[in-house]
Amino acid sequence: MSQRRAPSRRPPLKACKECATLAYRDVERCENCGSTNFTDDWEGMIVVIRPESSAVARHVGLSKSLMRAIKVSGKVV
Ligand SMILES: [Zn+2]
Repeated sequence: MSQRRAPSRRPPLKACKECATLAYRDVERCENCGSTNFTDDWEGMIVVIRPESSAVARHVGLSKSLMRAIKVSGKVV
């Protein structure tokens, strides 16, 4: 991390490779699945605020309020 690029339009988040949950860069474990396998290569974002009333959340298997990527490492998840 010695180099800095121009500021990104994206928030400083990384995506869990296991379940696509987004986490801030200082988070070590995915709060959804506990994985430590993260990538910066993600696109799209779903924010689930009330999973119990969200068809999208049920579709992707979320049970709590999370941010989730749509694509991780070029794959739609
Ligand atoms: Zn995860």
